[in-house]
Amino acid sequence: MHDDDCLFCKIVRREIPSEIAYEDDEVIAFKDNQPLAPVHLLVIPKEHLLSLNEVTPEYQPLIGHIFGVIQRLAQELGVSKSGYRVVTNTGSDGGQVVGHLHFHLLGGQALNAKIG
Ligand code: AMP
Ligand code: ZN
Repeated sequence: MHDDDCLFCKIVRREIPSEIAYEDDEVIAFKDNQPLAPVHLLVIPKEHLLSLNEVTPEYQPLIGHIFGVIQRLAQELGVSKSGYRVVTNTGSDGGQVVGHLHFHLLGGQALNAKIG
């Protein structure tokens, strides 16, 4: 289940290069190529889901798994104690540019306190 034209599906299929930090059967994490912080990863399901709006109840185990991966990556990258932020932009007002569900993991510096 993927979208031929989706940028992140292409990363999953290795058609576009990326710096992969983690991968398993369901999830892949790679470095954002325009990082906003010293640690800036994108953690995504391999399955093409457009946005959080498509996360129906049967995907709850997948979302739980993704947050487990995020927690582990934060530990490995040394930001667990200093702190980090997880962001999912959704739709145009939410600032979503890539139409494949993704979770930004940001850390390694004090982040701007403003969210909106
Ligand atoms: P969003 O605004 O939440 O849709 O974020 C999309 C993110 O994808 C941005 O932070 C981009 O810098 C990042 N991005 C776009 N293309 C690539 C790519 N080829 N490799 C890694 N990150 C990318
Ligand atoms: Zn996709």
